[in-house]
Amino acid sequence: MKIGVLALQGDFAEHAAMLDSVGVEPVEVRLPDDLDGLSGLCLPGGESTTMRHLIDRWQLRQPLLDFAATGAPVFGTCAGMIILSKEIADGDTPVLPLLDVTVRRNAFGRQLDSFEGELTVPVMGNQRVRGVFIRAPVIERVGPDVDVLATLDDGSIVAVRQRNVLATAFHPELAGEARFHRLVATMAAEHDDPGEGAGRRHHPTRRASAR
Ligand code: GLN
Repeated sequence: MKIGVLALQGDFAEHAAMLDSVGVEPVEVRLPDDLDGLSGLCLPGGESTTMRHLIDRWQLRQPLLDFAATGAPVFGTCAGMIILSKEIADGDTPVLPLLDVTVRRNAFGRQLDSFEGELTVPVMGNQRVRGVFIRAPVIERVGPDVDVLATLDDGSIVAVRQRNVLATAFHPELAGEARFHRLVATMAAEHDDPGEGAGRRHHPTRRASAR
């Protein structure tokens, strides 16, 4: 099974390594055709302003929306989460408005530019998740179809899911935290073959059907 990583800017190599570690073949996506045959997609952390310019320069916006509309999993971390949000506080125009949330960029201010903390993500089980936050956004509003997966102690929402779209304000790919990528792989396998029971894995050599 192949899962793409949007490789225009940011920490796409770390996402690719994480996918590799959970037994998925990572594919770097730079042009619309690169999406062919993929079973899921990760949008990395980086700088959302740069990423939005590159998405438009390479005419990826509609192909990315079409890909998400197939129901294949799409997972954004940090800048990737901003790219997926329907509303961006302080005026940025949304890029791929797939998550019915309002996101605020650089929400933790200068003193707390970057920090690490342990958080509980109930869908990931009892073991705590190490959250690496780097000039991280926070979610200020969630729509009725959005599941909140994790909050900080002060109630800030830092991980969400809306059907096939998953996003975290932190960077599991920088923390050796493989459970999110494993979840994406499971969602991708279920999307490819809806008859399969939850949690079952594809045979590693199975190829995604062409779309
Ligand atoms: N601050 C960045 C932005 O607004 C996101 C930072 C990150 O991805 N680590 O796009």
